[in-house]
Amino acid sequence: MGLVDDAALILDDLVALRRRLHQHPELGLHLPKTQAAVLEALGGLPLEIMTGAGLSSVVAVLRGDLRGAAGQTPTVLLRGDMDGLPIVEDSGEPFASTTGTMHACGHDLHVAGLVGAARLLSARKHELAGNVVFMFQPGEEGPGGALPMIEEGVLDAAGTPVDAAFGIHVTGLYNRGLFVSKAGPAWAGNGILSVTVRGKGGHGSSPWMAVDPVTVAAEVVMALQSYVTRRINVFDPVVITVGQFHAGTASNVIPSTAQLQASVRTLSNASLEQLAAELPRLVQGVAGAHGCTADVDFQQEYPVTVNDVDMWEHAKTVLTGLYGAERVFERPDPIMGAEDFSFVLERVPGCFIQLGARPDDVSAEGAPSNHSATVRFDDSLLGEQAAALAELAVTTLAKLVELRPDAAAGVAH
Ligand SMILES: [Zn+2]
Repeated sequence: MGLVDDAALILDDLVALRRRLHQHPELGLHLPKTQAAVLEALGGLPLEIMTGAGLSSVVAVLRGDLRGAAGQTPTVLLRGDMDGLPIVEDSGEPFASTTGTMHACGHDLHVAGLVGAARLLSARKHELAGNVVFMFQPGEEGPGGALPMIEEGVLDAAGTPVDAAFGIHVTGLYNRGLFVSKAGPAWAGNGILSVTVRGKGGHGSSPWMAVDPVTVAAEVVMALQSYVTRRINVFDPVVITVGQFHAGTASNVIPSTAQLQASVRTLSNASLEQLAAELPRLVQGVAGAHGCTADVDFQQEYPVTVNDVDMWEHAKTVLTGLYGAERVFERPDPIMGAEDFSFVLERVPGCFIQLGARPDDVSAEGAPSNHSATVRFDDSLLGEQAAALAELAVTTLAKLVELRPDAAAGVAH
């Protein structure tokens, strides 16, 4: 039987695991219940399992039985993130969370799908020409779990460096079962700009006797938009959205400060660096022109997620082989959301792929997006998700062995 048939046999278990996780979403880097559920689900499989020191990650290593002459084996990493969001769930699912936290980004499916891949691949250990590292990651929604996992050694967990990496992310927007991605920059890099404009408070009737920071902060908002159109290459798009603006306490009082915070998105790390260097000067210049000062902080968060061109070509071939060309879609444009799998793909060639999980009874037009309190995901695709990850691992290992004849020499069948 092929992986697709094998996956159908474990689908009920994966759905049960996903629904159990869905009821108890945990936030951030410390997910003790989720970690315990993963460890329990992996129990009995021929894996070497490590848990994180500074975060509740789980890393599992599967060693295939096929070896190179001098023990060389390529290694493929598969990643699933595990954390939820601080959202009160309103999905109407019978297994909805009632804890005030929600798996509104589908990371519960990512955990279950990765467990499924571990089960499928463990059963095919004898056919594997290398190692598979399963990366169960907390903190994707913030403050970021991929980088601490890299610092704790996930990319060397098998004893040899990871050669290729794949991750799948479900989305409530695409049709059930559609695999979507693109070569090159596929998700944005992001940063947060925080500004405090400092003036001099006073009576609202007499602004000339004060230094009003509100009008200056408003000018900063507009200057940021002009900056994007004048200073950024139009072929390397940048989005700056001021999502917070706070000042004042009463209509007749000029406050002494005004604060704003903006989300910054870019499709190249070069423009992220440019923004980090130039935005403080811009904001301080506008403030200074009006006799104010400004405190400016720019925090870079996640880098751009860049899919390797060859790995995406390979993934397209593999997914088409499994489920047909109508199930694979190459996006023309990147997504301006950010993803911390980018830290892995900065170091290792690989590919991050979206998987449509919109239930058939939800129309395309009205479908809630990920991070919505009402979003639902069709978990009947967990078998397909697991089989896709497993097949990507099997075929990539085979390809890497082919590319590195030294690793294939002496392979025992
Ligand atoms: Zn997500």
